[in-house]
Amino acid sequence: MEVILMEKQFKRLPLLKIVFMYDIDMESVEMTLDVMKYVLNRITSVSPELGHPKSEEELRALVGETITEEGIGGERAFQLFKDVLIKATVPIDHPRHLAFVPASPTRASIMFDLVTSASSIHGAYWMEGAGGIFCEMEAMKWLVSLTGLPQGAFGVFTSGGTAANLSAMVTARENWRKNPENIGQKGLMITSVGAHSSIKSMAKVIDADVLLVETEDRMSQEDLKEKIDSLSPEQRKRLFAVVATGGTTNAGIIDDLDGVAGICEAENLWFHVDAAYGGGALAADSVRHLFHGIERADSITIDPHKWLFSPYDCGAIIYKNPELAKEAHSQEGSYLEIFKDPGAHGFNPSDYQIQLTRRVRGLPLWFSLAMHGTDKYKSSVEQGISLAQLAGELIKENPNVELVREPSLSCVLFRRKGWTPDDYRNWTYKNHREGFALVTPTKWRTADDFETIARFCFINPDTTKEDVLAILNSMD
Ligand SMILES: *Cc1c(COP(=O)(O)O)cnc(C)c1O
Repeated sequence: MEVILMEKQFKRLPLLKIVFMYDIDMESVEMTLDVMKYVLNRITSVSPELGHPKSEEELRALVGETITEEGIGGERAFQLFKDVLIKATVPIDHPRHLAFVPASPTRASIMFDLVTSASSIHGAYWMEGAGGIFCEMEAMKWLVSLTGLPQGAFGVFTSGGTAANLSAMVTARENWRKNPENIGQKGLMITSVGAHSSIKSMAKVIDADVLLVETEDRMSQEDLKEKIDSLSPEQRKRLFAVVATGGTTNAGIIDDLDGVAGICEAENLWFHVDAAYGGGALAADSVRHLFHGIERADSITIDPHKWLFSPYDCGAIIYKNPELAKEAHSQEGSYLEIFKDPGAHGFNPSDYQIQLTRRVRGLPLWFSLAMHGTDKYKSSVEQGISLAQLAGELIKENPNVELVREPSLSCVLFRRKGWTPDDYRNWTYKNHREGFALVTPTKWRTADDFETIARFCFINPDTTKEDVLAILNSMD
């Protein structure tokens, strides 16, 4: 690659010209072909090798020094990557990778991720990125339409759910501080135990306090009301936002969004819905009703890199009133003024989230949506939900295991009767070591206990009933 870059910089000639007219630098041609060959192999293999980590020392012993003054050459570096380093990673799109929230980017989106890189588009401002940003906006229009938010709602793509949540929280806090009484006050937010860890950690970033509704199950209107009623007058003054979850990461539980919306409207609080994982299910007719009330949110996080089949990294933040986000995020600077000029007029994604220079990371999603159509997305999300239902049935039929709760969205929580936390851990490591599957334990909170249990999260439509059966059988 460095050879290609140097050619580009110093000779300003397109690669093909260099190759075919000047007949030089066969190394870069071969490397380009090698890379394309690798990519094609990788995206056409439905069951890639399930690698596992090695320690840093082991990896260093295997690959040696790779960054040297002279360079080790593209062929050698790529060989080390293929022979050693990639094997120390777990392909998140493996059909028996059911841990955390897996992913399953479409081939179209992966290929277009390469195109996005090769095109060198600066995605911050319309002036430079117009054609790419236009595509992102087309994909965003579809996402917004899934939410049912009113006319005027719009969003931008972010690096992920964490950045999307942070962008929303900054917007909410800045909006709250427009009231002079709140300037200099420390904000307070309410969410539930089931909320994703990023809510608490991003609250640290904006130096806000977080109070938790004590349930990992569905946060109801009554739960929230009770929590607000329990606040001291001082706390109530500092309360500016409520975060509900549209599909908890652990269990796929959707809070009572409509009930929470009602309270937020009555109490004049910002209503954020974190649907980073569950947002894809807005496309699925079979469960769409569970999200009733999401159309009343002030902001919504959805991660296309989770359940909308985009490659990493691609999150999204959508606002009911994007102007408020612009007031909070738009950066000023003498060298940036030209971008705000009416002559460069257009949508500037940087004005609506925390990042300035940005990859047009919605572009792979756009291409894949354009190629396949939204119906394919609907049916692929439905497939994850069906797999969770099917897994639930298989668990009920198997005497060794039992459901902890009915499957929700594409998450299934279940226990292996008689197992201790160590049994779950050993089982996970054994399956991983053998390159068979990656299924990790989790905890489920009951009234007075955290129980260690097993969990499936289905994203990949290529996962089969046989995969699920084989994993359940590995618990015998
Ligand atoms: C995964 C997840 C996040 C964090 O998203 P990243 O893309 O990992 O930053 C936030 N909220 C929920 C509900 C999630 O599932």
